[in-house]
Amino acid sequence: MDRIRGMQDIFPNESDKWLFVEGVMRNCAETLGFGYVRVPIMEFTDLFCRSVGDLSDIVQKEMYTFEDKGGRSVTLRPEFTAGVLRAFLNISKDTVLPAKFMCFGPCFRYEKPQSGRYREFFQFDAEIFGGNSVAADAELIFLAKSIFKELGIFDLDLQINAVGCPECRAGYRDILFSYFEANADNFCDICSERLVKNPLRIFDCKNKICKKICEDAPHTIEHVCPNCKKDFEQFKLYLNVADVKYSVNSRMVRGLDYYTKLVFEFVTRVQGSDLTVCGGGRYDGLSEKFGAPNFSATGFGIGVERVISVMESLNFKFPIFNKRDLFVVSVDDFSTEAVKLVIKLRAGGISADFDLVGRNVKSQMRFADKMGYNFTIVLGPEEILNNKVEARRMSDGAIFTLNLDENSVDSFYEILNHGGL
Ligand SMILES: [Zn+2]
Ligand SMILES: [Zn+2]
Repeated sequence: MDRIRGMQDIFPNESDKWLFVEGVMRNCAETLGFGYVRVPIMEFTDLFCRSVGDLSDIVQKEMYTFEDKGGRSVTLRPEFTAGVLRAFLNISKDTVLPAKFMCFGPCFRYEKPQSGRYREFFQFDAEIFGGNSVAADAELIFLAKSIFKELGIFDLDLQINAVGCPECRAGYRDILFSYFEANADNFCDICSERLVKNPLRIFDCKNKICKKICEDAPHTIEHVCPNCKKDFEQFKLYLNVADVKYSVNSRMVRGLDYYTKLVFEFVTRVQGSDLTVCGGGRYDGLSEKFGAPNFSATGFGIGVERVISVMESLNFKFPIFNKRDLFVVSVDDFSTEAVKLVIKLRAGGISADFDLVGRNVKSQMRFADKMGYNFTIVLGPEEILNNKVEARRMSDGAIFTLNLDENSVDSFYEILNHGGL
């Protein structure tokens, strides 16, 4: 049967990378006091219309939306923020603020699949609710930094920008609108629409002519209000004391409508081209669109597929979780003896396996070799009679003798430690 386009199957060996990356992200977040939350994969469609924005590409073209059997319009989450915020608002009354949350899982967007981009993709997500000060935004940067450090990604450019608050955004929008309006005839179709609805989004356009027009557009930071300026300076101070390097990118507005005040991205370079590996920002006021009181909120997402591909390009040494210490090869009628030994070794924490197919000794050995077991033990009448087995190291054929008594687990540990790998 065919797999749905843009979805992936991830098998052992490959999945070890995922488990490792996920583990690093979770550990780093726990160290910084973030609590793990799980939210549904599916939400009411309205949630994303209200948050991501009716006019965004995501809502207009990319969502997996359908009616459930009760006739309600539901959508597979295209991103985490809206769902996590909705979940938080349901418990906000009983929650000590600020609340630091992290989550991990698949998101879905109906985009054109291309190399490294899937319709089901995995995200790590961190959000802070009720953190009024830009210290909360700095905290997110510290988390992202610590994750990338553990993942061996050091060539990172942190780009930050002030995009204005409700007080000043309208003013900046007008200035921008006047500038863009003078160039209206030259925009692509999408940007002509953006000009009317949200001129800030024109900065996201990849069209050459639109990009050219953007080059001379007024800079956000020069037109935001004194409060936004002050916050931006304070944010930079936090980064400075933590020795975090950054650059101000006044063209970065990020694709989602809900961002206010501060946005940021981590960009790395792979084979000469820039790749954004983490993006986020502040979205104070979004809770009001859900009919809730205003909570300050800030967060980021990291795309796991992209991070893994960057790590692969850097030849990162991923640890192997599927360790396969030992295969017990059984002779003819001795398969139950093999099971007995395997269970004993497993109870001692050794990754031991036995034949599940009823194969002969030769093909069991071939199987063990193919699967990459570190050791094999052949168990037959002679071994049982003498209460003694030989563990054969597969890499070089070295033999270690082992007594089949109460201490066999300990002695096998010895062999693994001194003779294995
Ligand atoms: Zn402002
Ligand atoms: Zn355009």
